[in-house]
Amino acid sequence: MSPPASVARPLPQPRADLGVREGYHSPQVPVESRLNTNESPYPPPPEWLEALLAQARDIAYNRYPDRSAWALREALGQLHGVPPEQVFAANGSNEVLQSVCLAYGGAGRKAAMFEPTYALHAHIAHLTGTGLVQGRRRPDFTLDTGAAVDLVEKEAPSIVFLCSPNNPTGLTEDASTVSSIVAAAPGLVLVDEAYGQFASWSALELVAEDVPLVVARTYSKTWSMAGLRLGYLIGPSEVVKVLERVALPYHLDALKQAAGRLALQFSAQMEDRVAAVVAERDRLVAALSRLPVQVWPSQANFVLWRPRQRGGQEVWQGLVARSVLVRDTSSWPGLEGCLRTTVGTPDENDRFLAGMTELLA
Ligand code: PMP
Repeated sequence: MSPPASVARPLPQPRADLGVREGYHSPQVPVESRLNTNESPYPPPPEWLEALLAQARDIAYNRYPDRSAWALREALGQLHGVPPEQVFAANGSNEVLQSVCLAYGGAGRKAAMFEPTYALHAHIAHLTGTGLVQGRRRPDFTLDTGAAVDLVEKEAPSIVFLCSPNNPTGLTEDASTVSSIVAAAPGLVLVDEAYGQFASWSALELVAEDVPLVVARTYSKTWSMAGLRLGYLIGPSEVVKVLERVALPYHLDALKQAAGRLALQFSAQMEDRVAAVVAERDRLVAALSRLPVQVWPSQANFVLWRPRQRGGQEVWQGLVARSVLVRDTSSWPGLEGCLRTTVGTPDENDRFLAGMTELLA
């Protein structure tokens, strides 16, 4: 049925400041080795799924879920040795980042980040009307603490984003860098630790009620649950209260709350997965080092590398032709010629390395 002619008219324009910024996505191609989105190559433990199916029968689906997600926050608090008041949970750590921008950013405020880093920090800040202060990393992708502190003092951003291990470089920030930036920042510092469990150091040790620092984590990587969309942050309870004010009522459904809580009962299986991924990561780095590529040391579940004699895009295409999909970061600012490979299963990694040897050796 077509509407009456009198109400048909051109559709409205979105807000002007949305601009033409592209959404964030990674091209998906059907391949044997999908190593482009930093997911876990392993499904979650079957025992977790059994426990979840049993719980699923007891949920009162006609009722709204626990708005405060208290049991989940208690379980996460126990995992990290903090009270539930210091835990804020959301639909993926992306929603955690968005909540922080909604609460502490917005019109007239700025968020700082150090490029190259996770593209969604700038993207979400932009979507929430927060101004961007984009500092740079050194050519080797490490952060110059002095320069970062100077920038924070000069620009006085309301939010500083750090990412440790940093996506897509794989490098971690150390305790003294994070502390110096927290000391200099007039606002909140968020350390995005989406890959924190693969690293040897965590900013969680710096979190305290009187320190303006929050650490974001996710179920998407270590916990093998990217499909669940669950993330959280640990920080001062006063900050958590503020974040709850900007979250939509009942944003975490009952099944997700149960799934996230039950997952924490399978920490041992998750630690095994982390150890397997770390061992494979180190194997990948060692194998790449024997090829004509520059490879950066990684503390995450992915590796950044740059072919020395061939263009990044050309190598990306060569890998796709061999049924291996990696992330083409070669056109990203500061990452000229670079590609990022997510650590997969040993078979997936072997296929990647065989393709690389054919293409480059
Ligand atoms: N932070 C970083 C650094 C990431 O790389 C990702 C996922 N690509 C996220 C956050 C988002 O994770 P989630 O699935 O929890 O939204």
